Amino acid sequence: MNRIIDRKLEILSPWGDRIHPVNHISKFHYGNDIRAHFEPIYTPEKVKGIFIGYDDRAGHYVKLTHLDNSQTVYCHLSEIYCSTGKDIELPENNCFAISGNSGCTTGPHLHFGRKLPDTDGNMRFVDPESYLRKLWAVDIIKTAGIPILAIGILVIIIIFS
Ligand SMILES: [Zn+2]
Repeated sequence: MNRIIDRKLEILSPWGDRIHPVNHISKFHYGNDIRAHFEPIYTPEKVKGIFIGYDDRAGHYVKLTHLDNSQTVYCHLSEIYCSTGKDIELPENNCFAISGNSGCTTGPHLHFGRKLPDTDGNMRFVDPESYLRKLWAVDIIKTAGIPILAIGILVIIIIFS
């Protein structure tokens, strides 16, 4: 898997209930807002289908379908380098768009969404944060880094004592 942008992961607004920053109405946020300023967006994994759309809220957006039928969604884009198609394939780490500020936003950022099929096969939005953390390997650093360091120090102490 590949990171979707070339920078440190910064989640500006998480999944869940929030007061919308533009219209100040309480609304559920079906994704994560990621810091991004008009920069290349890459496929996090292989793609087998693409849908490109526009609406007033999401602006220009792309929905990618991956090999396991999960989908990733990218909103507020400024440029798109792919086209809609059920059978369009893209490799991993392929630049397919530039983030931007289209639609309803307070500033440039990338809204990232993830959809998984429920038991009836309908696609449902899920909180994408764990997926993003996997791409940036944040969990690995947090959970494995400190114990490995501790064991390393212990081994050194034992060897040299
Ligand atoms: Zn958002």
